[in-house]
Amino acid sequence: MSSTQTQTQRLKTTTPSKVSTLLPLPLDPVSEWRAWQTFIVFYTILLNRQILRRYHLERNCMRDRPICERFRPLIVPEPFPTLHKPNTSPTTSEEEADNPFNKSTMNKLRTKAALLRARVEKGKELASEIERRMVQNPPLRFPTHFCHACVEDGERVEILVTECGHRVCRTCLTYGVDEDGVYECNICFVPTRVDQ
Ligand SMILES: [Zn+2]
Ligand SMILES: [Zn+2]
Repeated sequence: MSSTQTQTQRLKTTTPSKVSTLLPLPLDPVSEWRAWQTFIVFYTILLNRQILRRYHLERNCMRDRPICERFRPLIVPEPFPTLHKPNTSPTTSEEEADNPFNKSTMNKLRTKAALLRARVEKGKELASEIERRMVQNPPLRFPTHFCHACVEDGERVEILVTECGHRVCRTCLTYGVDEDGVYECNICFVPTRVDQ
């Protein structure tokens, strides 16, 4: 069978999902496990670069302001994953987190990679939004002080800071809280709390 035919067959059998397009699936479990771990490392590096870039932008905007007017630049880096060697013996034991043959482990890795990738995209949008605000005419008083969910300006609405290092307005916070009173960050997609 030619390589083109194999490729076509693979494309047909692969279920479409957000990140599975990144991998020439199907792979053997150990290779797939390694590939997801690599993506997680790669996206964590990209994400932390985005976070650092935003921090520098925020700091630059505050530099010429009197200290009493400054907002604290936000920096909450994503923790770097701890890498393990995969367990290469085919067992479906539930306990082993480094077991590529465990379906739930593999799904968790896949979800984490997809989430990190989405956060990198969001991070790019946030940084561009700050840059756009920095060159507004007439100039904005606080180009970095806006809601990261609805981009409403901090001059018009009350802006709060989340534990994960994002700014959110009171309205987005109210609408984002679920029935248990938990707020899920629009940028990180994780439950977080707000410094009131
Ligand atoms: Zn908002
Ligand atoms: Zn967040």
